Amino acid sequence: MLMTAGFAQLKVDDAMVEKLHRTGKDIPTPVQERAIPALLSGRDVIARAQTGVGKTLSFVVPLFSRIDPEKEYVQALILSPTRELAQQTAGEIRKLSDDSGIRTLTVSGGKDYEEEKRKLGNRAQVLVGTPGRLLDHLRKGNTSLGGVTYLVLDEVDEMLRQGFGEDIETLLSLMPQEHQTMMCSATLDEEVRKMGRRLTKNALLIDIAPKEATAATIEQICIKVNEEHKQEALATLIRRYNPFLMLVFCSSKERAVELNDWLYGQGFNTDVLHGDMSQTKRRQVMENFRKAKLQILVASDIAARGLDVEGITQVVNYDIPHDPEWYVHRIGRTGRAGNEGTAVTFYTADETRWLQNIEKKLSVTLERQNLAGEKVRRTIKPPRPKKKKVPKRGKSAVGPNKRGTKYAEASRKQKRK
Ligand code: ADP
Ligand code: MG
Repeated sequence: MLMTAGFAQLKVDDAMVEKLHRTGKDIPTPVQERAIPALLSGRDVIARAQTGVGKTLSFVVPLFSRIDPEKEYVQALILSPTRELAQQTAGEIRKLSDDSGIRTLTVSGGKDYEEEKRKLGNRAQVLVGTPGRLLDHLRKGNTSLGGVTYLVLDEVDEMLRQGFGEDIETLLSLMPQEHQTMMCSATLDEEVRKMGRRLTKNALLIDIAPKEATAATIEQICIKVNEEHKQEALATLIRRYNPFLMLVFCSSKERAVELNDWLYGQGFNTDVLHGDMSQTKRRQVMENFRKAKLQILVASDIAARGLDVEGITQVVNYDIPHDPEWYVHRIGRTGRAGNEGTAVTFYTADETRWLQNIEKKLSVTLERQNLAGEKVRRTIKPPRPKKKKVPKRGKSAVGPNKRGTKYAEASRKQKRK
């Protein structure tokens, strides 16, 4: 019965169906349903979809039938914007490799240059890497792309945003004219479309609308805070949720470091991830987070982009993202593969317009809450004629919202006792 909707239906061979089954994957996700048959038939594919919809397997499954394990040269290349994503993707491939004789190598920068170089000599058939580092190796003659027939550009929009556009062009010039291409992107902005037109031929466009991908399984909440009280606000939130794994996004590396230091000082089990850390350190932090040795990870956008960590129960936008797409990416770290997750966005009075922009562009409504988790009414623009609401004492620095919160918190505490 299950099989009728399963991977077998997509012309995936029995051995692979069995391996997928062993890793808990029986039913293809919508993007897989459409990408896998197309890629198996040799067609180019552009998949526009938010995070968490299963894009990785949609190109990993067909990859296996595109590679001849007898041939000891690179046949498939997967480009990723970050080391972490490259390692994660390589991990997915290895999980399905067992006895296939297919070797996968990650080429992703950091300190292991010599190690990578040595391994490249051992002739992997699949390379997963960041464009810059891969180019380094190619320039030094450590490997060649002359036999690549299967190219995946994962998170193209992010690679372009990070300025990898030229490196990608150079890499392409080192590959055979004839090859199959799969592009994944969360967005289809002008640059991505241009690249898509240039790199693909008669591509199947799979467009999974953002709304489908997010709203369903992620509870989206926003809380109005004061910049000066943000740290305490987050501490309150953490104590209330006691999260299994919470990912907290800051707008910059500096803010992430500062917040992490503060949280750590408060006794929270927390660490930080940002783009300027050494690879070893980043890997260590990710590993600790994956294994839930860490409870809270404070991150800058770049570092956490595309990462798939199971079990993230809360994502907090400590700093509200100004770009609705970033919002989607960040909150996509929770509620993965249909699990439930909560996304909490902090915003200050000045940032209300960013919040409204997110809501408008994504056609979602974030539930207004206070720090105690109580629903608060949306503040509607034209205030009604003021009458009674005279503030009791002089205006407190924290504003009416927070005062309500304190009260609510106090009463909650009392109830508990
Ligand atoms: P994306 O690249 O679209 O952000 P991923 O490929 O990282 O998404 O997949 C998100 C999560 O969904 C991963 O944990 C993955 O193991 C899981 N997943 C993918 N496909 C399936 C499937 N067919 N059945 C169950 N879980 C899946
Ligand atoms: Mg992905």
